[in-house]
Amino acid sequence: MSYRKFKAAKIFTGNSWARPGSVLITSKDGKVEGIVSPSEAGEDILELAGILCPGFVNAHCHLELSHLKGQIPPSSGMVPFLMNIMSLRQAAPELIEMAINNADTEMEKNGIVAVGDIANTTHTVALKKRSRLHYHTFLECSGFISATAPERFESAKKMLQQFRASGPASIVPHAPYSVSPELFRLITQTAPEELLSMHNQESIAEQDFFRQGHSELTELFRAIGVDISFFKPSGVSSLQTVFPYFKHCRKILLVHNLTMSQDDLDFIKQAPHPEVFFCLCPSANQYINERMPPLHLLQENKEKIVLGTDSLASNYQLSIIEEMKLLAAEFPSLSIDELLQWATLNGAKALDMEGTLGSFEKGKQPGILHLENWQVERLL
Ligand SMILES: [Zn+2]
Repeated sequence: MSYRKFKAAKIFTGNSWARPGSVLITSKDGKVEGIVSPSEAGEDILELAGILCPGFVNAHCHLELSHLKGQIPPSSGMVPFLMNIMSLRQAAPELIEMAINNADTEMEKNGIVAVGDIANTTHTVALKKRSRLHYHTFLECSGFISATAPERFESAKKMLQQFRASGPASIVPHAPYSVSPELFRLITQTAPEELLSMHNQESIAEQDFFRQGHSELTELFRAIGVDISFFKPSGVSSLQTVFPYFKHCRKILLVHNLTMSQDDLDFIKQAPHPEVFFCLCPSANQYINERMPPLHLLQENKEKIVLGTDSLASNYQLSIIEEMKLLAAEFPSLSIDELLQWATLNGAKALDMEGTLGSFEKGKQPGILHLENWQVERLL
């Protein structure tokens, strides 16, 4: 059997630094054999400056919105952004397909090996069947009117069958403000063992809607002709309003968490289930809301933080290294190993892919990246 051998100034294994001078040994196709000392490694070692690390996991993307790149102006705020998505997402099928293919290629070039991808349509099924990336599709369900819940859930179930032919997939709620209690129950009680994801606390408008009963979101419902006169505000955060629906679920990825408070974190902590991962999408937060996630609060959960790009409708690129770079600039006390762990092993765990991806453990095939000066190159 022939091997590939790599050495760099530093090797990040997925959750720690390997001993200085270590050599990473893999099979020809990148399956990890081990990390050994130079005296055991033999010859033919590729020696590099910079850092070696496993492939990146993009925990939150919307591949099917890729054709909206550059269509929505930055700093619009959450509600105008959502209105723009609704009015612009229709386009010629060949345009949508081309943008999806280009986005998948862009992610691969940027060192991404796995993606947690939101879908509201079946536009990405064909690509996911042939892509070299690993996808978990989160099939998103929404509907704030309880009466529509069974119908919405049935149509998601039909799409789920199509996506399952392309890889792992599960039905998930869109956001606290767009899913009725009935729909939450259908999603969380039908398959509590499935991997879940939800857009959470993405804007002040979402927070005010639940605390006070009115916000810019009220305008959104009026604009799309949905009568929400039945709605009574819970008086607590959106997260605390809906989190109890998940009490029998296994795992959930909460995405954005922009207005999350210590009180919300304590609320999550007192519940034995589900296991919660916190996905940060700093570039998208900056693009839409000109705001950064509350990292000072979340850092006590740093084993559970993962990174996402969100879609090209709210980002200039699909690159985890750009998300890391932005966080490093905004939060100078963050270390590179924290960021790398969020981008690799934590992401793989959040997507149930840690058996094969996320770290340089024997038998895994996580992809091998070379980083230098915030530039990434995929070696295998
Ligand atoms: Zn999103």
